Amino acid sequence: MKGTGLTEENAVDRLREIVGESHVFTDPAATAAYLTDWMGDYSGDALAVVRPGNTREVSAVVEYCGASGIAIVPQGGRTGLSGGGVPVGASPSVVVSLARMDAIRKFDDAGRTIIAEAGVILEVLQDQAAQRNLLFPLSFGAKGSCTIGGNLATNAGGSNVLRYGNTRDLCLGIEAVMADGSIINGLSGLRKDNTGYDLKDLLIGSEGTLGIITAAVLKLFPRPSTRETAFLSMASLDGALQALNVIQDRTGNSVEAFEYITQPLVDVICNTLPGIRAPLAGNVSTAVLLELGSSRSSDAEINGTGANRLRTALLDTLEALIEAGIVEDAVIAQSERERAEFWHLRESVLEALMANGPFYFFDISLPLANVAAFVGEMDSIAAKLGFQPLIVGHLGDGNLHYALTSNDGERWQGLPLELAKQEALALLQRLDGSFSAEHGIGQEKLELMRRHKDPAQLSAMAAIKQALDPAGILNPGKVVPIDPR
Ligand code: FAD
Repeated sequence: MKGTGLTEENAVDRLREIVGESHVFTDPAATAAYLTDWMGDYSGDALAVVRPGNTREVSAVVEYCGASGIAIVPQGGRTGLSGGGVPVGASPSVVVSLARMDAIRKFDDAGRTIIAEAGVILEVLQDQAAQRNLLFPLSFGAKGSCTIGGNLATNAGGSNVLRYGNTRDLCLGIEAVMADGSIINGLSGLRKDNTGYDLKDLLIGSEGTLGIITAAVLKLFPRPSTRETAFLSMASLDGALQALNVIQDRTGNSVEAFEYITQPLVDVICNTLPGIRAPLAGNVSTAVLLELGSSRSSDAEINGTGANRLRTALLDTLEALIEAGIVEDAVIAQSERERAEFWHLRESVLEALMANGPFYFFDISLPLANVAAFVGEMDSIAAKLGFQPLIVGHLGDGNLHYALTSNDGERWQGLPLELAKQEALALLQRLDGSFSAEHGIGQEKLELMRRHKDPAQLSAMAAIKQALDPAGILNPGKVVPIDPR
């Protein structure tokens, strides 16, 4: 190994000494799953998969790897969609999985915070909060597999960003192991702390390239005691955004989710996955899954109409929006089961796309005022080039997941995908959008970073990377396009 006189076997032996024999995998049957991403688009090689059980072990692994010239790929639930958690390139590397670090260290009932280790599965954290009648609002389709460490490292978004912000907004502090093995302890949970640069914010969204997150203090919120979930058919996309503001104004800002989906994608989901049905019959070109939530007890009170206050406000608002021609049709979930069905449809998008056939997926964001223009122009480009667009998005955040697929599933190979990507990017630039909204850069978008990120920002990022990880051992070949070691 690079100038150390070590062999791979020595390295694996040393790693076993640090974390214990049974927590270092080298057998291909055991490592295979750790070396391929969720979509099956990226795979790589590693000397070993190492599964430390505590922060001191993470630190010792990092220190040893740094001294031995071994790169480290931090890994959580492997649900990332940009290839960030899979080794890349020729340098010897180890995958450091945080899966064993899955303890809830502390609840602070008064401060409404929780300290969770990096390997805690998102859904487990949601359940833990719910048991205390509190809410951890981050939520999306991968919640049963992704981890808090991965959520922080990617600054994950999801369906509730509109109301609660993305992962960055939900975090009060971080414990992390830096490239030299030092441990940063920022778990005090302070809501105000202006003592210099905010290292937490540097680590959040750094996709494992600046440090390994081992634990975090996260904010909890009052759990909505009343929820109303509806599936709406909107007359237009612009109208949908107009409706969002009207609904916010008339329901006391209680919109928790405002998710956009187009009919061809609803059809793909219903045709490929058993047991899912479209909430609204007919051809709904612009559908929105709306969820309102309130923890105010008065909103749960039943009034003279037999409905609670939140539902009454929703019904009145929908009536006004239908009269104004903005909403065409609507169905409101009548039970928790129906609500779960609406959400199951929304959260099955990726699975359905994968079952449907080849596709390419843009994760982009736009100023809200430009969303409709993007969709209109991109739909024309897609049609001209022979693609069928399938669109879903966190509309309230201006975040679209715009998928290109082939019309008949047969002709994908011949379609001009590179041209479609170029045209989409040019359109995105013209409309002040971003080529990565919530899935990060990983290895997938490294070239886009090189070509399209503002050079001044890129050079500041490279300087930060160089300062914090001078030997480039942390997740090389990801996020910041700098020359390989
Ligand atoms: P991994 O995939 O294991 O890793 C992701 C990146 O984080 C890698 O670069 C890795 O090196 C780094 N990393 C992981 N753990 C650590 C750590 N402890 N310290 C430092 N670096 C670390 N994302 C959204 O934002 N919004 C969505 O709505 C959404 N929906 C999804 C739906 C599905 C069905 C799927 C499969 C994915 C979806 N994703 C979504 C993407 C993905 O779930 C998120 O990026 C998630 O945060 C990744 O967490 P993970 O634990 O799986 O991380």
